[in-house]
Amino acid sequence: MDDSSDRTGQVEQQEGSWLRRRRGTARRAQRETSAPAGPEPVVEASPSSRSPVSPSQPTAIWTDSHCHLQDEPDPAATLALARAARVGRVVCVGTDAASSRRAVILASELSGNQAPAPSMGYAQAPGARDIEVWATVGLHPHDARAGLSSVIELLDELSAGEGLRRSRVVAIGECGLDYHYDNSPRDVQRDVFAAQVGLANRHNLALVIHTREAWDDTLSILEHEGVPERTIFHCFTGGEQEARRCLRIGGLLSFSGIVTFANAVELRQVVTHCPLDCLLIETDSPFLTPVPHRGRRNSPSNVTVVGNAVGLLKGFEPEVLAAVSWMNAEKAFGLGV
Ligand SMILES: [Zn+2]
Repeated sequence: MDDSSDRTGQVEQQEGSWLRRRRGTARRAQRETSAPAGPEPVVEASPSSRSPVSPSQPTAIWTDSHCHLQDEPDPAATLALARAARVGRVVCVGTDAASSRRAVILASELSGNQAPAPSMGYAQAPGARDIEVWATVGLHPHDARAGLSSVIELLDELSAGEGLRRSRVVAIGECGLDYHYDNSPRDVQRDVFAAQVGLANRHNLALVIHTREAWDDTLSILEHEGVPERTIFHCFTGGEQEARRCLRIGGLLSFSGIVTFANAVELRQVVTHCPLDCLLIETDSPFLTPVPHRGRRNSPSNVTVVGNAVGLLKGFEPEVLAAVSWMNAEKAFGLGV
């Protein structure tokens, strides 16, 4: 990926020499590790306060850009474990009107019903003490046949009430096209996806895309409807061609635990070449448990495993990757305003 390699170089230059210095250390670590996955998640024994920044201490605070916390039997307990694993922010993603409503309610409840304040950047990350919870509203392509009307009603209700921002809604989705399972007719999937691209543009929200075996239609609908300013390709599993096409239209690639799977060789190549300012990390929990925790239920805590694996592939220490993905999520979901 020639053009993206160039862009990566530009980002490194902009980020400054401290980033490049750490790169050498991480490259050594990468050579010494044969497994595709990164090390075990860094969990402190007593995470009651943030440690002062020190090269010898783990200070990473992570963002899980895509999880389904509302599917957990005890979302508050799951979130407490994530906080102990140094996850400072999660985005709880809706897949239909009911799960989107639950995501909004959870985001509010688990944030202590506080009015959302603009994010102050990574230096002010809440760390182990607090955790930000945000929500998305949308209709998954599997359920496109149900129609979008109840999702639109929810958006209208929230807009007319406290407003989308006060309700912690940061994106439309997950939406898109899934031609692998074809759980809804393809023409219906296309119509419902196009309408949700329109909703993201109308409400000035990010767009979270699920696409599988449908790249041409996904990109042509985006271009026809107008690519939202902040467009996220969730659980990116395309090859270098697809990555290049997504980046060309200004999209961000969100990488999941799939990067740790033994057969994900091409995807790891994409991670290696993805510009630093265009990547996010996510768990998609409770699905897609990363190596070495396969066979167990996934949870937002495992975003540390995904982040470590991505950091190793890119040649950065986990702390650097955590900071970069934190700031990228802030931009992608419009959290700095
Ligand atoms: Zn999902």
